[in-house]
Amino acid sequence: RWLADYYMSAAGDVLQAALPGGLKAADAYKPKTETCLALAPELRNERALGIALDSLRRAGKQLEAFTCFLAMTHWDTFEGTVTRQPVVELTRDELMNTAHCTSAIVKSLVDRKFLVPYEREVGRLNHGGEPHLDNIKPLNEAQQEAYNAIVFGFLKKNVVLLHGVTSSGKTEIYIHLIRQALEKKQQVLYLLPEIALTVQIRQRLQAVFGDRLGIYHSKYSDAERVEIWKKQMSQNPYDVILGARSAVLLPFVRLGLVIIDEEHETSFKQQDPAPRYHARSAAIVLAAKAGAKVLLGSATPCAETWHNAHTGKYGYVRLDKRFGDMQLPEIHVVDIKDLQHRKMMNGPFSPSLLAAMRRALDGGEQVILFQNRRGFAPMVECRECGWTPRCELCDVSLTYHKNLEQLTCHYCGRTYTVPDVCPCCGSRNLKGRGYGTEKVEDKVMELFPEARVARMDLDTTRTRDAYERIISDFSAHRTDILIGTQMVSKGLDFDRVSVVGILNADSMLNYPDFRAYEHAFMMMAQVSGRAGRKGKRGCVMLQTKSPELPVIGQVVRNDVDGFYRDLMEERQLFRYPPFYHIINVYLKHKDNAVVSAAADALGALLRQWFGDRVLGPDKPAVAKVKALNIRKIVIKLENGLDRAAVRLYLNKGKAAVVQDKRFKSVTVYFDVDPL
Ligand code: ADP
Ligand code: ZN
Ligand code: ZN
Repeated sequence: RWLADYYMSAAGDVLQAALPGGLKAADAYKPKTETCLALAPELRNERALGIALDSLRRAGKQLEAFTCFLAMTHWDTFEGTVTRQPVVELTRDELMNTAHCTSAIVKSLVDRKFLVPYEREVGRLNHGGEPHLDNIKPLNEAQQEAYNAIVFGFLKKNVVLLHGVTSSGKTEIYIHLIRQALEKKQQVLYLLPEIALTVQIRQRLQAVFGDRLGIYHSKYSDAERVEIWKKQMSQNPYDVILGARSAVLLPFVRLGLVIIDEEHETSFKQQDPAPRYHARSAAIVLAAKAGAKVLLGSATPCAETWHNAHTGKYGYVRLDKRFGDMQLPEIHVVDIKDLQHRKMMNGPFSPSLLAAMRRALDGGEQVILFQNRRGFAPMVECRECGWTPRCELCDVSLTYHKNLEQLTCHYCGRTYTVPDVCPCCGSRNLKGRGYGTEKVEDKVMELFPEARVARMDLDTTRTRDAYERIISDFSAHRTDILIGTQMVSKGLDFDRVSVVGILNADSMLNYPDFRAYEHAFMMMAQVSGRAGRKGKRGCVMLQTKSPELPVIGQVVRNDVDGFYRDLMEERQLFRYPPFYHIINVYLKHKDNAVVSAAADALGALLRQWFGDRVLGPDKPAVAKVKALNIRKIVIKLENGLDRAAVRLYLNKGKAAVVQDKRFKSVTVYFDVDPL
């Protein structure tokens, strides 16, 4: 009850965002119904029924339909009265199909008051069939140990981190924990990043939990969402919800366990638009309120979680063995700076990567190529004068998409035609620079004409179906080489991938953000984890211009502890999370001078309260998006400050700025704990 109230009140504004159209959609929601037929109450005794049947003697079709109806509906007598409770409900369509009659015939039976139509609500939701708990696979020894440690951990802590290397069988452990929760009549919320919510995981859970499992993701229509919502509020809610980020906002009445798989995934945080919430944090708060436990799972936990698990705030369970004693892949570092220098690169490929790909294809195995740039060429340049096309609305250069024959801004989505001549110097010598996934695909098809190639990035996965088709084709070995952005690293389990190529690690490492190394390490470890899942040791070709960086060595040796040790040292030294909280304050306005003055004013105000914890204002790396100029103020707050007080001052500062009539159309917003 209180949970229901909680969802209806406190979470109200968050809900507005979670359900497109918000609660208004719920109000306007019309349940989908179908017409069913019942025997008229007056006919529910032998005598009246006999008379009715008699009266139909001359109406052959109607008689046929009516006797068919009687035969198909549940028949019972009680003290001489026929009770035909629609225990087995019969729809009009079912009757028409079985009796081979028209709707006119049914209508005449209704008009004669023999049958009474009524509407029955039907679910739009999929029906998963009966649960089959005996489909659960027994755990191996290492998994069982981890399972026990988790259960034990929950005795002392509300949150436990399962740090299990890729393919160690974390999912199986989750399934066992879910079963245990169900035995205790508890509900389970299982959160996954949107992108990992594929057929693979759905089928694994459905095989065990059948129709006790509900699925919830952003591609669902409003009607489907409302239906799940209503089911969760009904007497017979789903026991298990498998969902993406916003599933954390669904109502639960007896929540016992929340599983957050791939907890390091940045997509758990809703970045834009508001509400900027992190599903992990929301789930932990929600679980605490409901008295439920939270299990975080990852092969590469994020810095905050690692810290919480090593300072005793969370329980910590480690699973270092891959299932079936499979080895981690062998990672070879390829120095592409040297190779470029010696002109030995073939496009984005080193000779050793090409050789490894060739071996894999010849052996009937598959290859994954990871390139963190979509489009054809990330940049176009005039070879004479150095001019590059830029977006008119944003402070970024445009990406060339060859298939679409256009230039696209990856910040606002605006497209431009490709110029024939340089508008600056008139030269025709315009060339693309760098490799996007589309160009990698072109090059692969040129070098391996016999291979079946697929590309997975934002451009090829606009629809959910497209995404699942690419995955299932690759799973079923209908494609040999899968090229993609970070999408290819997401919790997928393929059997025949023997080679993974990371084409350019530097684009991740050089990203101007304090999390660049953390994200690069995660990405490289995750994508490497796709190699050699079953049977044979996989091989990863890691191409970089900076092979001497410690993080590269840590990836190669799978030196997780070393990586986090260095990371923590650096974060502490430079006052970053998990030792400090970061709050980014953004100001946006179409006039550069206005936003600049507003940012200075707000910066001065915040400095009065927060002192040298305030940095900036500065122009961010991309200082203009969608024709709005941006300024950014960074606040670094040591852990343990009074959050309510901080919020008060932030809002006070914002109010002061927007109330100033010079700045009244400036947008100010906060991003707390940015990723
Ligand atoms: P993770 O989630 O840690 O990446 P998975 O749970 O996907 O690992 O397990 C990797 C593979 O090993 C999957 O194909 C899974 O079916 C298999 N597997 C894991 N545990 C078991 C088990 N106890 N019995 C049989 N197969 C298992
Ligand atoms: Zn030019
Ligand atoms: Zn733009």
